[in-house]
Amino acid sequence: MDAATMTTPAVLILLGPPGAGKGTQARMLEDKFGLVQLSTGDLLRAAVAAGTDAGKAAKAVMEAGELVSDQIVIDILRDRMAEPDCAKGVILDGFPRTTVQAEALDGLLAEKDQKISAAISLEVEDAEMVIRISGRYTCAGCGEGYHDTFKKPSVDGTCDNCGGTEFKRRADDNAETVASRLSAYHAQTAPLITYYDGQSVLKRTNAMGKIEDIARDLEDIVASAVN
Ligand code: AMP
Repeated sequence: MDAATMTTPAVLILLGPPGAGKGTQARMLEDKFGLVQLSTGDLLRAAVAAGTDAGKAAKAVMEAGELVSDQIVIDILRDRMAEPDCAKGVILDGFPRTTVQAEALDGLLAEKDQKISAAISLEVEDAEMVIRISGRYTCAGCGEGYHDTFKKPSVDGTCDNCGGTEFKRRADDNAETVASRLSAYHAQTAPLITYYDGQSVLKRTNAMGKIEDIARDLEDIVASAVN
């Protein structure tokens, strides 16, 4: 299955708390199905690094582990979805995170005659997420994700994907900020599980196991959702 065999572009949503593995799994699905991963967290970090107005407004909020304003995030997402590569279909990673964002996405898709293929809830316990987040890091060159315990590079200090030797950890992956991010998830994002269940596009998957096993479950869900 690839973009050429899909009739309308697939729109997949990965729902789940910080540390559930949304980014890791989105990257694997991107490769497998020829879709484009859109992470609002990555887009916001790029805006912060570039010093744009949106980035300046978002910086302190992100450092506190709270949610950036709906308007900023919706604008960033809308602009990114208008780029030509998104015609292949998208995997939304970290968006929507509020009901206002979910409604904005519905409106955006309706304008393009598109609809949500599936909203997949990655289900993990809070204690497990703290362990996952505190050990994670990425390749500074290509963004491939690693973990001190669960996913080390095959050759110590060298990225499996691009051979890079520089790695980085996110500023907000620390114990205090993780607590705020989890409470923002439970208060503002978890209600979207009911929202998408109401639209009959919700799929749930246990995201507590090994990365490869979760990936296999997700591939099955996505394969039937995009057909
Ligand atoms: P993430 O990389 O998805 O964990 O996001 C990192 C941070 O970016 C979050 O803790 C929020 O501060 C901000 N952020 C990312 N996506 C959104 C969103 N859809 N709505 C509001 N804030 C967001």
